[in-house]
Amino acid sequence: MIIIPKVRGFVCVTAHPEGCAAHVQQWIDHVKAGGPIKAGPKKVLVIGASTGYGLASRITAAFGSGAATLGIFFERPSEEGRSATPGWYNTIGFTRLAHAAGLFAKNLNGDAFSADIKQRALGLIRADLGQVDLVVYSLASPRRIHPKTGAIHKSVLKPIGASYTNKTVDTDKGVVSDVTIEPASEQEVADTIAVMGGEDWEMWMNALAEAKLLAPGAQSVAYSYIGPEVTWAIYKNGTIGLAKNDLERAGKNIDSLLKLNGGGRAFISVNKALVTQASSAIPVVPLYISILYKLMKAAGTHEGCIEQIQRLFATQMYNGHAPKFDAAGRARVDDWEMRPEIQAAVREIWPAVTTENLAEKTDIAGYRSEFLKLFGFGLPGINYEADSEPHIPML
Ligand code: NAD
Repeated sequence: MIIIPKVRGFVCVTAHPEGCAAHVQQWIDHVKAGGPIKAGPKKVLVIGASTGYGLASRITAAFGSGAATLGIFFERPSEEGRSATPGWYNTIGFTRLAHAAGLFAKNLNGDAFSADIKQRALGLIRADLGQVDLVVYSLASPRRIHPKTGAIHKSVLKPIGASYTNKTVDTDKGVVSDVTIEPASEQEVADTIAVMGGEDWEMWMNALAEAKLLAPGAQSVAYSYIGPEVTWAIYKNGTIGLAKNDLERAGKNIDSLLKLNGGGRAFISVNKALVTQASSAIPVVPLYISILYKLMKAAGTHEGCIEQIQRLFATQMYNGHAPKFDAAGRARVDDWEMRPEIQAAVREIWPAVTTENLAEKTDIAGYRSEFLKLFGFGLPGINYEADSEPHIPML
């Protein structure tokens, strides 16, 4: 089957198996070029391991410090006439390369929020790894079936209290317009916290601790975002921001748990705004990312997921370093994004962007090519006109 991009709004409904594998190879090459991460993780559980920051964490652990990894994710396999989701192909690409390098890598595809997947993960860890010394929690999900109540919670990206109007870009059509988002109801706030907050991270860590599957000194990290004022109504002060506050609350409880387990720790790392499947669904943010990419590329400070996580591991978590926590106890790898001169330039460009000058004032071209890369398109060395086999079983 010849697989071409089919973009529908902020998703691409096709993915290219060889392209996704080439993307994974690029990330592995980046980590290898950074050199070994001394005293790095050795046995790692990554929850949300197939795309974005979670995949970058898995690759950094495996190819930076030779870690055995168990990856958990929720991806759709191929169907008749339809390719699988990119995380499916990314994981196959990663697992093949990890195995070729002599590294242990196993995968569990299913709902990480469920009790069943947790039990299966515990069983695999017990049988294959004994214990884990790092747990990365990197889920981004639109819904959660609560494992105890059976309730279905759906997360929303809305402001709190009052409606919010700002500029946004249709990244597919290149049209800049105003968008107004009505405030979330109390139920929507609670639902978003249930999906993207910290309860599930705590459930994972408590289950691992009770089963004695955490190595002494084990660490756990989850990812968050803060960003500049122009996005606060929709992000930091919106429903997702409240969920992230709850993730921080959970992080403190988990930190206490891990401290008692041989002096380990849990913390939040605040990462840079990047093009991922999760971020492309947020109104306003893709326009901000397009401006940010232009400025950070010009400043020579642009990073993608793999650069961010390689930097986090190599300069804050391992290699003889400790996290440089901010006043709220969070690690920050959004530091280059938040530099005053970058943010001052964003504030200057933001009001001036229009549909007509989008290409000149922002890196919309870079945004689009990064977006397509998430689905395995636009990678060098891939013949996109050749037949590709979409039906590949999970390893
Ligand atoms: P992503 O969409 O690329 O990855 C999400 C991962 O979660 C995938 O592996 C997916 O399979 C998995 N997943 C989703 N639902 C699942 C379920 N029910 N069971 C098992 N796996 C499931 O997202 P991302 O942007 O890498 O986000 C990861 C984390 O990083 C999130 O907490 C996000 O808020 C945070 N973050 C993202 C950005 C950004 O700009 N993208 C910035 C800072 C922090």
